[in-house]
Amino acid sequence: MQTKYVTTNTIGLVNKVIVHTDCWFLPPRVQAITISKKRILMKSKEINYLILAHELVHIQQFKSIKFFLIKYIWEFLLNGKGVANKFEYAAYSTQQWTHDNTVTTVSLILTNPSA
Ligand SMILES: [Zn+2]
Repeated sequence: MQTKYVTTNTIGLVNKVIVHTDCWFLPPRVQAITISKKRILMKSKEINYLILAHELVHIQQFKSIKFFLIKYIWEFLLNGKGVANKFEYAAYSTQQWTHDNTVTTVSLILTNPSA
């Protein structure tokens, strides 16, 4: 596991996030998971920016929705982790948009952890 500090600007929303890459222990078919308002676990060795765009939507959900984790788990139990899940729909929409336009929605500054 490696730790990378990333400053992102997604449509004017500035986030400082910590991305742990090379998270080999994530379950099969899970490429990344957002675990708090500022922390993402990612399976790939380097940051996958398409996946990061998706996870940043979950970061925003963590920040703006009260009891997000509980609501997410409820939604997951009802509708799974695909686009039927309203929280995932929002995240996949952003990821798709990023992909379709072949322009990144995230501008990134890799920062030194000591900064
Ligand atoms: Zn997601």
